[in-house]
Amino acid sequence: MILPIHVYGDAVLRDEAAPLPAVSDDVRALAADMIDTMRGADGVGLAAPQIGRGDRIFVVDLTPMLGKNDEVAGDYPAQPMVFVNPEITWESEEETGFEEGCLSIPDIREVVYRPERVRMTWTDLDGKAHDDVLGGLLARVAQHEYDHLDGVLFTDHLSAFKRKMLGRRLRAISRGEVEADYPLHIG
Ligand code: ZN
Repeated sequence: MILPIHVYGDAVLRDEAAPLPAVSDDVRALAADMIDTMRGADGVGLAAPQIGRGDRIFVVDLTPMLGKNDEVAGDYPAQPMVFVNPEITWESEEETGFEEGCLSIPDIREVVYRPERVRMTWTDLDGKAHDDVLGGLLARVAQHEYDHLDGVLFTDHLSAFKRKMLGRRLRAISRGEVEADYPLHIG
């Protein structure tokens, strides 16, 4: 089921999400809705606060970002991926810049610098524990989504100058002056 996406200015995007006690059928149903919502919006990642839920869970589907010749099963695990109760336990010193967007901040894209690789632990929908070093696009998207669980948005990583430049557009989104070709939850 496709759910409306909460936009910049909504308090739920600034709250710290709470760990899920277990991978229940409810969590599997939530993950299925999140995957439907992400794909319906042509996104590559979605975190629970974006659909108004304060749970530590996010979903990723890199398929749209991978070239036709990229083996999803090679460098990247099978997509989509579901991360329940993720924790970043290590970050590489090397950082890379990459242009990011966010389904909760329509039409704004900016280069964000993040660690090139991170080590992350999480639980999947089968209840299996993972502990992996993520690189490339997966590291990029996973860090963006992980931030959402701590109430952090990609615009927070920009310079004060860049944020000032974007201020008017961000305030307009906060006021509900925003459109997207997917359902939004405004106010
Ligand atoms: Zn986002």
